[in-house]
Amino acid sequence: MPPFPFTAIVAQEEMKRALLIAAVDPSIGGVLIFGDRGTGKSTAVRALAALLPKIRAVAGCPYSCSPESPPEACPHCAGQRGPGRDGNKVKTHLIPVPVVDLPLGATEDRVVGALDLERALMRGEKAFEPGLLARANRGFLYIDEANLLEDHLVDLLLDVAASGVNTVEREGLSLRHPARFVLVGSGNPEEGELRPQLLDRFGLACEVTTPTEIATRIEVVRRRDAYERDGEAFCAAQGKVEKALQKTILSARERLGDVSVPDAVLENAARLCVALGTDGLRGELTLMRTARALAALEGADTVTLAHLRQVAPSALRHRLRRNPLDESGSTARVARAVEEVLGPG
Ligand SMILES: [Zn+2]
Repeated sequence: MPPFPFTAIVAQEEMKRALLIAAVDPSIGGVLIFGDRGTGKSTAVRALAALLPKIRAVAGCPYSCSPESPPEACPHCAGQRGPGRDGNKVKTHLIPVPVVDLPLGATEDRVVGALDLERALMRGEKAFEPGLLARANRGFLYIDEANLLEDHLVDLLLDVAASGVNTVEREGLSLRHPARFVLVGSGNPEEGELRPQLLDRFGLACEVTTPTEIATRIEVVRRRDAYERDGEAFCAAQGKVEKALQKTILSARERLGDVSVPDAVLENAARLCVALGTDGLRGELTLMRTARALAALEGADTVTLAHLRQVAPSALRHRLRRNPLDESGSTARVARAVEEVLGPG
């Protein structure tokens, strides 16, 4: 059965917007989604990947390299250099945008890859067995309950996500391979917290809740039921809307570099971060990039304060320092700062 269509997901607007923004500009650095179980977080990631057009990859490359990317960046493709490559004759195939699940309790070997023991023992060859990071290249890496993952693994994932390269230096192996992916982590704040240093390295954070409005709940149940009874028909009926959103994402990616960010927007982004006391400049940078990606999605040429206002909660709520004198939640604190700095919306 095809995955549940992205455009058929009811409500959860903030989560959907954050995922779309990350798909337009992966350099924003991933999305952390807080919320109850069963709010469709993993469904949404799968749905978004399925919505994107298939990608062309070098056949046989475990990292799914694009035929256009420089072969020397990949241990597999570097070995295939020759007349075939320049003559554009390297064999390629179309593959769906990968979505890789990082299971809880995954070992570092499984994540980064390890020495292929079988080949080492049987044939005395030092070969690399690629891990989950290899499979996630050019796609999405989904960590369910990121807050239950060991800190050093989260750290490692954030490093790779930021650099787009997995560097392996262990067991006598020394190699680098491309690992460019959008990191999406889910978390349940009641079950352990991420260290603040890790938290603020995620680009965006959003909150999802089970809808309380009766009409919304009815719509969720109605669509889920229709999908489960006849998935093919349900997806076919959604086809046109899905295609339209796919076009929106692709053209947003194209126009992203041409969207201008006026000084007034940067100034207000800085004032927001000062008002909230966020550490460093990461907050402003993310705020700017997120607002720009949103403008690109909306087909605008220029980022406005309205864009800034819309993205401020997801770009900033996970960067606030604890304030013992202020017990209100982070979302409320961001909303208050937005109103102080930008005026009532
Ligand atoms: Zn390759």
